Amino acid sequence: MRIEEPPQLAADLKTIKLPTVAAHWERLALEAHKRRQPHADYLAELLALEVAQRREGRIRRLTQDARFPVLKTLDGFDFAAQPTLDRDAILDLARGDFVRERRNVVLVGGVGTGKTHLAIALGLACCQRELRVRFTSAAELTNLLVEAKAEGRLSRKLEQLARYDLVLLDELGYVPFDRHGADLLFGFVTKVYERRSLVVTTNLPFARWSEVFLDATAAAAVIDRIVHHATVLKTDGDSYRLKAARQGGRKRKEVEPT
Ligand code: ADP
Ligand code: MG
Repeated sequence: MRIEEPPQLAADLKTIKLPTVAAHWERLALEAHKRRQPHADYLAELLALEVAQRREGRIRRLTQDARFPVLKTLDGFDFAAQPTLDRDAILDLARGDFVRERRNVVLVGGVGTGKTHLAIALGLACCQRELRVRFTSAAELTNLLVEAKAEGRLSRKLEQLARYDLVLLDELGYVPFDRHGADLLFGFVTKVYERRSLVVTTNLPFARWSEVFLDATAAAAVIDRIVHHATVLKTDGDSYRLKAARQGGRKRKEVEPT
């Protein structure tokens, strides 16, 4: 059985931009013929394929635009290593409602305890829900803002950042800013406050945020704005990598021939 291609079909599909339909109509038509599938079902199946491909493409683009330094998932997170962390709360956040509700997440904990991993995994989950996400570090963001300000395009930069539904702000507290940088970062938080969501990772307890913002009043204002609508999660214990390396070492020893 051969299917005669309608002369105008390829051009029409191109005009209205249905590449997946163009690629699959013939194969599915043959199958429909074999299975005696009703025309309406054939049409629905073909369009569902187009819709699914488009969604996949959008998610791929959103994931690229997010500029994750590496891809990490919640499936790849070993919750057993963080027994005090509320797993259900994190799985719940991964549904993305916190972004739609303009709420924030703060991940506090020591080095290597999985804060960045969790932030990326939450970001990726939000990309899969078709939310616009941007990963950056506090240092990188501050540099961007300092540069933009110097070039007289600070407000444009802030507008551009405020277009993301969710900004992941990694490593707040590792680098002390100067006064100018601290003020710009403060300006950013004020700008996104109640309009967009932030996921902040930090090694500093709130009591020490004045070291980042170089000023107790600004720190208090930031804490007030971010934490006011936030889920605060603490990661603790030893560095996961160190622990894994130590365990790996032990395991290797055990299998060594004596
Ligand atoms: P932090 O940002 O808190 O310093 P990271 O998230 O960068 O720590 O974690 C360091 C490394 O250890 C990363 O490769 C991360 O994937 C891994 N890691 C940390 N905690 C876990 C965990 N509970 N399960 C799986 N991998 C983890
Ligand atoms: Mg980190």
